This record gives sequence, C-alpha cells and structure tokens, in this order.
Amino acid sequence: MNGKMKAIVKTKEAKGAKFKEVSIPDYGSEQVLIKVESTSICGTDLHIYEWNKWAQKNISVPQIMGHEVAGKVLEVGDRVENIEEGDFISAETHIPCGYCYQCKTGKQHICNNMRILGVHKDGVFAEYAVIDKVDVWKNDPTIPAEYASLQEPMGNAIDTILAGDVAGKNVLITGAGPAGLISVSVARAFGATQVIVSEPNDYRRKIALEMGADKVVNPLEEDLTDIIYERTDGIGVDFVAEMSGNEHALNEALKLITAGGEMGLLGLPDDNVSLDLTNGVIFKGITLVGVTGRKMFNTWYTASRLLKEERIDLDPLITHIFPLEEFKKGMELMESGNCGKIILKP
Ligand code: NAD
Ligand code: ZN
Repeated sequence: MNGKMKAIVKTKEAKGAKFKEVSIPDYGSEQVLIKVESTSICGTDLHIYEWNKWAQKNISVPQIMGHEVAGKVLEVGDRVENIEEGDFISAETHIPCGYCYQCKTGKQHICNNMRILGVHKDGVFAEYAVIDKVDVWKNDPTIPAEYASLQEPMGNAIDTILAGDVAGKNVLITGAGPAGLISVSVARAFGATQVIVSEPNDYRRKIALEMGADKVVNPLEEDLTDIIYERTDGIGVDFVAEMSGNEHALNEALKLITAGGEMGLLGLPDDNVSLDLTNGVIFKGITLVGVTGRKMFNTWYTASRLLKEERIDLDPLITHIFPLEEFKKGMELMESGNCGKIILKP
C-alpha cells in the first residue's frame, strides 16, 4: 500500500521520540500489513524512550516504537497461508528464527536468534504495521481491541503463574506494575485461594485490590513477614510471582516461601543480585523458574480463553487511553509509576 502514515518514531540516540509522518511500510512475502486499532505501552517502550543502557545496545534509529497491538489485516504476503484480509489479529512480539536448537525442539519462545517487534524491527505505534506470519494471532471478534492488545503482557503473567502450582494455594506477588497486576487476576483465575501483593506504590496497590488481591502490603512501611505468616497460619506462601526485579523483594520473598515452594521469576534486576542459595533455595527445596516472554502459542490460547469466557476483567488495569500523538503523556505517567496499563490509539 502506498502512502503516508503517522507514527511514533525514535529518531535520535537520546531521550525522547517524535510523532511524525512516515511512509506506510512495505511487507514481505511472509508478512502481513495491518491497520492498527489499539496498542499499549510496555516497560520496554519506556526504556527505549528514556534511552537507557539496554536501549543504547539494542536499538538502531530511526525506528518506529511499540509492540503490543491489535488490528485488522489489510494485505497479506504471497507466502502467507490461513490469514486473510479483514482478520482481527494480535501479534506475538518475539520473532523466532525457526532453525536453532530451541526452535527445533518446541521452545521457540527462547529462540537463540530471537528478534523482537519494536526492538529489532519497526514496531506498531503507528497507523499501519507489518507483522511476520509466524507471530500472527487471530483474535475472537468479540474481544475488544484494547484487551486484545493486552494479551501479549497477559502472556508474561500467565507463564509466570503457571511456573508453579497455585490452585488451592497461597500466593505472593512482589511488584504490582502491569505484569504483577495482571498476575493477580491470573492467579485467581487458576484457583489461588489467597493472593497477597507487595508493592510500595499507593496507586498500584489500589488497582491490585480491584484486580482481586486479598491483601495488599506496602513493604516499605509494613512488616511483610508478619503479615504473610499471620495470613498463612505460620506456613508461608506456596508460590511467589516475582514481578519487581528488586533484589530486596526477591530475597524477602525467598524467605517467605514455605519449604518445597516455587517461584516464577519475571522481574529483571538491573544488575547481578546476591542470593542465599544454600539456606534460601537448596536446603528449602525451592524451585526457581525463569520466565521469558510467553510460550508460543500455549499462552495465547490461555489468554484468549480467559478473555473470551470473561474469567478475567482487565478494566481496572487500563487506567489511561490516549491518542498516539499524546504518547508523551503516557511515557511521563509510566515514569511516575502512577498508572496501570496505558492504551495508545491511532
Ligand atoms: P514495572 O516496573 O512497572 O513494575 C515493577 C513494580 O515493582 C513497580 O510497581 C515497583 O513500584 C515495584 N517494586 C519496586 N520495589 C519493590 C519492592 N521492594 N517490593 C515490591 N515491589 C516493588 O514493570 P512491569 O512492566 O510490571 O514488569 C515487571 C518486571 O518484569 C520488570 O522488571 C520488567 O522488566 C520485567 N519483564 C520481564 C519480561 C520477561 O520476559 N522476563 C517481560 C516483561 C517484563
Ligand atoms: Zn530459533
């Protein structure tokens, strides 16, 4: 399709981005062109916007930002099967190579040569976007576009919660950013009997309650240890979803897991962390599971079923909806932490 579109473009190797006119992108024989209906901001987009050390290493400018998306297929490449014009789709954002050891053994979500939409190629904060056929996820038409775009981060939460056994168990979620907040409702949907959330930010603790947390704790002002033991009959929690990337939260959580318990690790510490492996993990028989992205595509089936059957309500999570051109407001809110998920619409 020829023509111009509006997009949020990282134009300089410095903090910021520009809302500007660019060409509608060309697509390849194994790609589709979509009309973007809804997108959402991820922490990764904020890192790119702020131009942190990770972004400096991974992003080549100019590049269109964004990766969480829902939209309608407009055109399909000639080697794309089973996807048609008019299909309502979302996108997995990890683009696996298809030939490495991990890809060949059913683990394409941890592909050795992984590329990521909006990181290694132009993204979706635009009126139109190109999606690789391997990443296309056909949505149920009854799912609203705002929710459909959130299936990607939902997948992080689902994989983390499914890293252990939460049914009938006491669960602690450390960090109630968007990932932790979605995890609250995912843990409930999978049958956790009690979900306790630890989060310093007042605004986010309030949303955690709306998402279904039984108890929220400010770990900087309250005694998390006392509260956990009191609420678990002195046993400790069975499962922790570590969603903060904070070293202190991680170590405290390890102490609060009952022996034999499990922890899903999604949060990314900025630096190496120090752990008491001997007493905190080995002698307690704790299982630690690292979670990268989402399983392709098991997690997508789960996310879409939870949404279609209304087992999860994402409304409290969506705190702001802005037109694309007001993306800076969204980035500032993300920097403040006083938000849940922010939707951007072309
Ligand atoms: P976020 O930064 O919005 O949320 C982290 C939350 O942790 C914040 O609300 C913060 O206030 C809270 N926090 C800080 N210190 C804490 C403490 N001591 N105890 C409890 N909470 C504390 O990030 P997000 O978008 O919700 O993502 C969560 C984490 O997962 C981030 O570290 C992110 O980088 C990471 N992540 C990893 C993957 C992956 O593939 N592994 C994917 C997405 C996100
Ligand atoms: Zn691969």
